Amino acid sequence: MSRWWLMEAVDVPVSGTGDGTTVKKFLERSGPFTHPDFEPSTNSLQFLLETCKILVIGAGGLGCELLKDLALSGFRDIHVVDMDTIDISNLNRQFLFRRKDVGRPKADVAADFINSRIPGCCVVPHFKKIQDLDETFYRQFHIIVCGLDSIIARRWMNGMLLSLLVYEDGVLDPNSIIPLIDGGTEGFKGNARVILPGMTACIDCTLELYPPQVNFPMCTIASMPRLPEHCIEYVRMLLWPKETPFGDGVVLDGDDPKHIQWVYQRSLERAAEFNITGVTYRLTQGVVKRIIPAVASTNAVIAAACATEVFKIASSAYIPLNNYMVFNDVEGLYTYTFEAERKENCSACSQIPLDLNFSPSSKLQELLDYLTESASLQMKSPAITATVEGKNKTLYLQSVASIEQRTRPNLSKTLKELGLADGQELAVADVTTPQTMLFRLCFTS
Ligand SMILES: [Zn+2]
Repeated sequence: MSRWWLMEAVDVPVSGTGDGTTVKKFLERSGPFTHPDFEPSTNSLQFLLETCKILVIGAGGLGCELLKDLALSGFRDIHVVDMDTIDISNLNRQFLFRRKDVGRPKADVAADFINSRIPGCCVVPHFKKIQDLDETFYRQFHIIVCGLDSIIARRWMNGMLLSLLVYEDGVLDPNSIIPLIDGGTEGFKGNARVILPGMTACIDCTLELYPPQVNFPMCTIASMPRLPEHCIEYVRMLLWPKETPFGDGVVLDGDDPKHIQWVYQRSLERAAEFNITGVTYRLTQGVVKRIIPAVASTNAVIAAACATEVFKIASSAYIPLNNYMVFNDVEGLYTYTFEAERKENCSACSQIPLDLNFSPSSKLQELLDYLTESASLQMKSPAITATVEGKNKTLYLQSVASIEQRTRPNLSKTLKELGLADGQELAVADVTTPQTMLFRLCFTS
């Protein structure tokens, strides 16, 4: 990929060095695309350079591009959060990293690079999980940009910003809104979107747009498989480490036909045991590899779109993207913008407790499956609690082994047997959100 921005900074020291000289042109004069209320002045440049505080989530493929774009646009107060360390396979596209940096935290190295390369810019790194930072941390930013490859992390971030909203008498206080700019890429496809939490469609409002989940609950894989994928996952996760067919410590290699053949054969046996059809060699390889290809040019395009949106919102000089842009250059080049709509009963942003309709004779397992498999919820390992006879009772919790073991028998009990009543409130915690979600159990006859 061409390093045009390095070239520019070397050849023309004044332009694109983070002092705002370049963006001045956009802020100190009007133009055909400026916001109708925009009045050219030097104030918005001052805000951008001196006050505006931006948080970048992720310092990987998108994150490197974002940090570079934002720093060269004049933003000087930038924080970056990333929990990963640098792997040698990152170096082809994560251009803030060099071979000597392999093994070091991405956030630290990215911040050092930008800080030494762009005078006046101060990037503060956080080598952490987003879940390890709290409300006080997130509240200090004017705009948050996500360059993540995980839907769970995106949803968690979305949930965090929704939890910061302040409502007075049911009216949203606009000062509590922190805009979220979200970029995503997969191979030659990508998207950029602008989310004003509480006002426009949030991540969970459009959950149906994401491809179906590839992670299945462990209990399903281990004890009640229903899909061919469950059988393959069973072999991959449980049989491979147990039987070590190619020797102790040999890691399953999705590109080794002997390995895939072994997994395929064992998955067929597992499937036959449960009368499940559909296990093929091709599906086996697909499930085992689950590789999301990374393409440097897609990252560059999407990060540029996101950084532009940050600039538009920070300066108020232009109307932001409304609100979802898709990009695809698999064949030719296609891009399209549409307005994703808020979902009236969105489980994350609607503030309406969702109804769960089940018969009293349904088993808790069915309810759990619904939470993980429903296209609009897609939870990962929901923990369900309820108040039964005045006591707070954990019905099922997967993340702590001892509690999982203790609560597992509940899965095969009916809702009635568990003492749950019609209209009962169920509290569900999951890794997809920092907040506990409330559901109302409605008995169907
Ligand atoms: Zn929503």
